[in-house]
Parts: sequence; structure tokens; C-alpha cells
Amino acid sequence: MNTISAAPASTAPFTAAHQRTVVDALRAVLPEQCVLFNEEDTRPYECDGLAAYAQLPMVVVLPLNEAHVIAVLKVCRDLSVRVVPRGAGTGLSGGALPIADGIVLSTARLNKIVKVDAYARTAVVQPGVRNLAISEAVASLGLYYAPDPSSQIACTIGGNVAENSGGVHCLKYGLTVHNVMRVRVVTIEGDVIELGNAALDAPGLDLLSVFVGSEGMLGIVTEVTVKLIPKPKLARVILASFDDVVKGGNAVASVIAAGIIPAGLEMMDKTSTRMVEPFVKAGYDIDAEAILLCESDGIPEEVEEEIARMTEVLKHSGATAIAVSQDEAERLKFWSGRKNAFPAAGRISPDYYCIDGTIPRRRLAEVLQGIAQMEVKYGLRCANVFHAGDGNLHPLILFDANQEGEFHRAELFGAEILEMCVAFGGTITGEHGVGLEKINQMCVQFSRAEMDAFLSVKRAFDPLSLLNPDKAIPTLQRCAEYGKMHVKRGMLKFPDLPRF
Ligand SMILES: Cc1cc2nc3c(=O)[nH]c(=O)nc-3n(C[C@H](O)[C@H](O)[C@H](O)COP(=O)(O)OP(=O)(O)OC[C@H]3O[C@@H](n4cnc5c(N)ncnc54)[C@H](O)[C@@H]3O)c2cc1C
Repeated sequence: MNTISAAPASTAPFTAAHQRTVVDALRAVLPEQCVLFNEEDTRPYECDGLAAYAQLPMVVVLPLNEAHVIAVLKVCRDLSVRVVPRGAGTGLSGGALPIADGIVLSTARLNKIVKVDAYARTAVVQPGVRNLAISEAVASLGLYYAPDPSSQIACTIGGNVAENSGGVHCLKYGLTVHNVMRVRVVTIEGDVIELGNAALDAPGLDLLSVFVGSEGMLGIVTEVTVKLIPKPKLARVILASFDDVVKGGNAVASVIAAGIIPAGLEMMDKTSTRMVEPFVKAGYDIDAEAILLCESDGIPEEVEEEIARMTEVLKHSGATAIAVSQDEAERLKFWSGRKNAFPAAGRISPDYYCIDGTIPRRRLAEVLQGIAQMEVKYGLRCANVFHAGDGNLHPLILFDANQEGEFHRAELFGAEILEMCVAFGGTITGEHGVGLEKINQMCVQFSRAEMDAFLSVKRAFDPLSLLNPDKAIPTLQRCAEYGKMHVKRGMLKFPDLPRF
């Protein structure tokens, strides 16, 4: 396959005159208050949740409806202006990081729930609707939207679609891609296309699954049809302690190997529980080297049986203490520590860097040992929280950006964790996307032919590379500069050759 250049179309450099031209063109199609260009107005958009990287955009637009989105994209195409889509800006991989001479297109104001169909168990929502707001809106019908990122109080469904977001319940109920039936998208040409439909299968190519997880590079989501599922009658969670992280890791693999699919299977190491417990008082055993949270949901008989089976497996795997939530309040208390792990990191360290990689479950214990060695190598602490059931790691590297060189060490530490995930047969992202953060590790994960295939798809939707360029798919030159040879499923090509 020929190597395709990812270089974007030449765009005008950021000058005051160019900014004026773009602002005037945008104000001709949008209400004045929807176009921001003064520094004090654009500053809040300079970064997403990965605040270590920041860039002021040239202009921010806040369309109020789909017609506005179409008009903005036509202006950008005509003037060759690059566009960074944005939802709530909670992304953790720099996906919504602005470009100096580009615009940020925020869909936060497209925030209406258009329609709820209790019979079809679907909801049609605009992209700026918050994840949790969907479940809140349909709670009275006994329904909810299953994917539950820990950021669900703030993140938007548009961002969830772009990142293929996951959460605690995704082990049993699937990721965003499994819970979205249809998306309405505006292309860079200003055309509206609908991908997917209301039936289980759809005619034509399955472009919905191509689009979900495409990180704002293929089009702007303007409407999403999501699946709703009945709220389980009962949910209970087991809190199990282990005196050894390796035993905790092996217990995760044993639960799944026993044929159980818990509604959530999360793990936290001692650094994490000690960080969280004084903050939320979740009742965690802070002397344990690791704790597991294993949830079961369904009808009461089912839950009782599954809790008994999981308890048995956990005891067999060496759990030193086991507690089972007795009521809903206690269940939420047990979960509160895990759900607040990221903010709690801010209490014990000035800065933290959340890594997101995935490994085969059976390698969990080895990866934990590898991370412990890296803590010594880089001289930085790391708190480990995991969506353990699906092998999705979230090591939180603790550092102080005011200390010379600490952020750089944290970056190297994070990169080494991701590359270890690839070497163990895993991937460089579980749910936070590649964005800018993991773009170098794409060179490690994929062959050039595979990345060319990604670029061909990008080009089919966005021939001028105006939509979120330079994110998620690295150029050949970038990979060459990163100086890596391709490692796939743990197999390094030509292992005898010296590395440079
Ligand atoms: C404390 C915390 C906890 C988190 N926990 C989880 C978790 O458990 N699971 C998880 O998966 N993630 C988690 N995240 C990451 C983040 O919340 C998700 O990636 C989320 O989906 C981002 O949504 P957003 O609306 O904030 O999107 P943004 O951050 O604004 O954007 C994310 C990406 O989507 C694109 N995008 C946004 N809107 C659109 C649109 N309308 N059309 C096209 N592209 C668009 C952007 O260009 C960008 O590439 C967490 C983040 C934080 C801060």
C-alpha cells in the first residue's frame, strides 16, 4: 500500500487580519454571541482534561443548532480553517486541544433530549447532553443508559461517541459503540449523513462502528440515538481485600474464568485506597495491598447466586476480608471511593497524570510488577486504579510540575507503561482515546500499512484534513522521529539488532 501523507491542507497562518476574516465570516452565519475571539473568552477552551498541554485557539464557536454547525463547517472548508470539535472538555488525551490558527467548535449548547421512546427503549439526544442527564431523564420509566464514565456528571454524549467511552458497567453492558444505534453527522462539506439505524442490522457498510471512537476526525456529531435498558431490580457489590496485588490480579482473572460476568469488576492498589479513604470514607481496608469491587445486578435470586459464587472464587484466590453491601446506601458508599479516585489524587500530589492502557486480564499481576519497577526508575509514585474486569489500567502517576523535570519524567513513565501494554498483547488505550497524548505510541502499536488504512478512512471523510488534524494518527515522519521499531503482540522485529 502506498504511504498516504497526513499533512493537512495549507492553512493561513494566525495573523490578526486572518482572524478578522474568519470572525467576520462566522458572524455572518452565527449570532454574534456565539463567536468568541478575545483572549479572556477563549482562554477557558485552551485545554481539555489533559491540562499539561494548552493552546489558545484563534476562535471558538458555540453553535445553537445543526444549521449553525453546517454553516460553520462550510465557512471553515471555504477558508481552509482547521476545526477542533469539543464537548465538555473532560477528555484525558488532548483530543479537544485547540490549534493556534484553528477554531474550536463546541457542541455544548446543543443540549436537548429530542425524544424518548419507552417502547423502543431508545432516546434521541443532541451531542451536548451530559451522559448522566440521559439516565436522569428516563429514570421515571425504570430505564437508564448503561455506559457510565466516571466523568458522567459532566461529559457529553458527543464526546462519548467520539472517544467510544467506557465505564464501570461496560464489562457487562458494553462500551458506547454497543449502546449507540444511530448518529447524525455533519461532514466538513456541510452535508448531513446518518450512520446506523433503529434496527439491529443495517444495510450498507457499517460506518457507525467506524465513526464511534474516531476522535472528532471524521465529522461533527449533531444527534445520537442511544439504547436504554431496564434498571436492574437489585445490585450488590462485594468489597474484597488482598494482602498481595498479584493475588488480587489473579482473582480478577479467576472470576471471569469461572464464567461470571460481573456488572463491574474494579481494582485499586494500596496507594489508591490510602489516597481516597480519608477523602470519601468509603470503608476501604487501607492495610490491604489491593481491594476488588465486584458488582452483581439483576433479579434478587440471580444476584444472590452470583454474589455467592463470586465470594467463593475470591476466597479461593486468597481474599483476606470480604464485605457485601447490605443496602443501596452501602453499595454507593463502596463505589464512592473508586468513583472519586481521580479527584482524590489531587489531594496527595500537586499534579497527576492518568494513563489509560489495556492488557489481557491474565497479565495484570505482571504489569503491576512492571509499574512498581518503573516507580523506582523514574522516582515518581503511581496509584493504580483499574477497570480490572476488562483489563483497562488507569495508573495515576503523581508528580509536581513545579519541580524541574518531573513532568518530563511522568511523560516517559506513562509512555513506558503504554508500550509495556503493547508488549503484553494489549493496547495503548482502553477508553480515553489517542488524541495527542498517545500519538507516538500509535507507532509502536500499529504497522505502517495499518495506519495507512486509518488515514484512507480519514481522507474519505475529510480530504483536506481540516477536522482535528494531527491527532490520533501519526505521520510516517513522526514515527521515524520517535525512532521505534514495530512491536506487535509482544514480538519485536529483529530482536538481535541494536536499538537507537
Ligand atoms: C475525572 C474524569 C474521569 C473520567 N472517567 C472516564 C471513564 O471512566 N471512562 C471514560 O471512557 N472516560 C473517562 N474520562 C474521559 C472523558 O470524560 C471522556 O473521554 C468523555 O467521553 C469526553 O467527553 P467530553 O464531552 O468532555 O468531550 P471532549 O473532551 O470535549 O472531547 C473529546 C473528543 O471528542 C471530540 N468531540 C467532542 N464532541 C464532539 C462532537 N459533537 N462531534 C465530534 N467530535 C466530538 C473532540 O474533538 C475530542 O477529540 C474521564 C475524565 C475525567 C476528567
